[in-house]
This record gives sequence, structure tokens and C-alpha cells, in this order.
Amino acid sequence: MAARLRPSNKRCAVIGGSGFLGRHLVEKLLDRGYTVSVFDIRKSYELPGVAFYRGDLCDQQALLPALEAVSLVFHCASPAPACDDRELFKRVNIDGTRTVIQACTEAGVQKLVLTSSASVVYEGRDIKNGKEDLAYAKKPLDFYTETKIEQEKLVLEACGPGNGLLTVAVRPHGIFGPRDPQLVPVLVDMARRGRMTFIIGDGTNLVDFTFVENVVHGHILAAESLQPGSSTCGKAYHITNDEPVRFWDFLSELLVGLGYKPPRYHLPYPLVYGLALLLWLLALILRPLVSFKPTFTPMRVALAGTYHYYSCDRAKRDLGYKPVVGLKEGIQRTVQSYPHLRRDAPVEARRDQVGPTGLFN
Ligand code: NAD
Repeated sequence: MAARLRPSNKRCAVIGGSGFLGRHLVEKLLDRGYTVSVFDIRKSYELPGVAFYRGDLCDQQALLPALEAVSLVFHCASPAPACDDRELFKRVNIDGTRTVIQACTEAGVQKLVLTSSASVVYEGRDIKNGKEDLAYAKKPLDFYTETKIEQEKLVLEACGPGNGLLTVAVRPHGIFGPRDPQLVPVLVDMARRGRMTFIIGDGTNLVDFTFVENVVHGHILAAESLQPGSSTCGKAYHITNDEPVRFWDFLSELLVGLGYKPPRYHLPYPLVYGLALLLWLLALILRPLVSFKPTFTPMRVALAGTYHYYSCDRAKRDLGYKPVVGLKEGIQRTVQSYPHLRRDAPVEARRDQVGPTGLFN
């Protein structure tokens, strides 16, 4: 039998490391002197010093080689919220997370950091400065959120001496930044099709948008806080920019920065929400006969028309968290990183193709 390597404090694995957040996390970990393995169903880039393992996290045997001699695992993989596929969410986010925990225990991993989501407490009603002790949503608005709740519970409950694993959950909200395949490309696509003319509601609802480097910073602080007996074990932490912003002002700043007109006309929130609900129900009823996925789901309409911003005081107090990039700078850096999506970009440069997807998760 081959000798097992001893886990090193600076050796970590990022499950979902090919994704938007995952890749930013990998880059920062390398900067900080970590040795990084990436485990993902796809390989989206090459980086010196990173070992890639391709596989499905639901397959424990595929996961184990990526966790060998690793002391710290970040789990930031999930199917995209827009896929709206209940079975897939359940398989990956719930059953797959159970497999990740088992694999960590089997491989002798000491710490597991889950990327959860602030949406686990969101039910479509206003949340203003929500704290981590808010109850989980009893009626989550979509399958993604439903399974993120179960996923977070599994990871937090796994914390303890029983299986030798220390766990913590980071709950970001509205991650944005360079290389995000969702928010800016989707926004620009909608603007080009003339679909960014309307504001849902009165446009005053405050929300969190969090620059990706702040989310990465929160993850690393959470990981480094985990020590035997530490009070952060088994807890969830909101990581935000700590600068709530009007949802529609934020989108408008991105649009105007890229040369597009901001939305101007208002539509009543209850009307749009009611229509979205109707469409969603219709899609559900007709699913056996025809398959169509409405772009405006009740979740997306709710996120666009309600308040949802969260307190990150617990992270400040327990982790020493403070955003490292302010909102204004984050927006500027994001806009600058998409020259090909500018309104005046030559047509040949417009390489991003986007599918029907969401602006938040
Ligand atoms: P992303 O889609 O860019 O990255 C997710 C990665 O997970 C992808 O690379 C994908 O290939 C991988 N993956 C999916 N299923 C897998 C499987 N079965 N096995 C192995 N790998 C698999 O998404 P992201 O925006 O970077 O989100 C990362 C995490 O952050 C997710 O857990 C998401 O729920 C959470 N989150 C995101 C936001 C946001 O605004 N983007 C907000 C809150 C929480």
C-alpha cells in the first residue's frame, strides 16, 4: 500500500475551482503561498502550480486523489441557479455535499469551508440588515435556495471532534467582478435586446452586491480562523461589501459605464411578480408536454424589487473581516474588465454568448 502524505497546513483543494469565484479564490491562495488542487467537472484555465482534477463531486472515488495530503478544502461548486433543475440541485448540493464531507473525513482533511449563500434566509420579503440568526427560509422561492439550505446545514452539523473536521460556511450575496460569466454579460445581452427599459417597483430597494475579492478575503479569513476549539466552528458568516446599494442604481451604473442607457420606466412590483408566478406555474403544469423556462422567475423578480441586505458584523467581530475593495472601485474594475461588451465595441469583439440566466444567487 502506498505511503500516505501528511496533510500540510498550506495545502488546500478548491472544489468548483474552475468557476467564477473558485478561480479568484485559487489565485489569491497561490499569492498567499498555498499549494492548490482544483477539483471540478470542467477545466476552464491553466495556472502554474495548480493541479487539476476533473470529476463529479458526487463521486467519492474521483474526489479522494484531489484531497490527498490536503488540510483545507473549499467547497464552492454548485449547478448554476438558472438551470432550475431540482434533481440536479438535489444530487449535487445535498447528496454531493454529503459525499464531500465523507471524502474529507476519509482523507484526513482538517478544515472545510463551504460557500453558502445569504439567500438561505430569503423568502421574497424585505430583509434589512439581516443577521445570521434569521431562520432559514421556510418557503424558499427556488430549488437552488432550497438545496443551499440543506447543504449549509449538513456542513455546519459536520463540525466537531466526532469526525475530526472543522467546518464553517461563508454566505456571500450578489457576487460581481471581472470574469463573471453571469451578471454583466446577461445585463448587456438584455440591454442589447431592449429589455433593460423597465424598473420593477419604485427602484428604492437596497441590496448587497459584493465584489469578488471581498468574498475571497472572507473565505480565507474563515478558513484561517478554524482551529481546534475555535468559536467560528459550525457557524455561518455573511460576507458583503458592507455598502448596501439600490438594486437599480447598481445595474444602471454598470450599464452606463459600458455605454448603454439605464432603465427609466417603472412597472408595479405586484403586477410583475404575479405574472412571473403565473408563468412559472404554467411552465410547471405544461412540463410533461412542452418545455419552456421563463426568464423572469418569481425569485428573480423578488430579488429585483425587494430589500435584501445583510449585516456582516459577525464576520467583522469573529474573523476580523473588512471589505478590501469598495463598491465604487469594484464597479469601475468590473466595467473596465469587459471592453468587448461595451456598446461601442466592434461587432467581432462581442464574443460572449449568454443563455437565459439570473442576475443573482
Ligand atoms: P460558477 O458556476 O462560476 O462556479 C461553480 C463551479 O462548480 C463551476 O466551475 C462548475 O463546473 C462546478 N461544478 C458544478 N457542479 C459540479 C459537480 N457536480 N462536480 C464538480 N464541480 C461542479 O458559480 P459561482 O458564481 O462562482 O458560485 C460559486 C459558489 O458561490 C456557489 O456555491 C454558489 O452557490 C455560491 N454563491 C454565488 C453567488 C453569486 O452571486 N455568484 C452568490 C452567493 C453564493
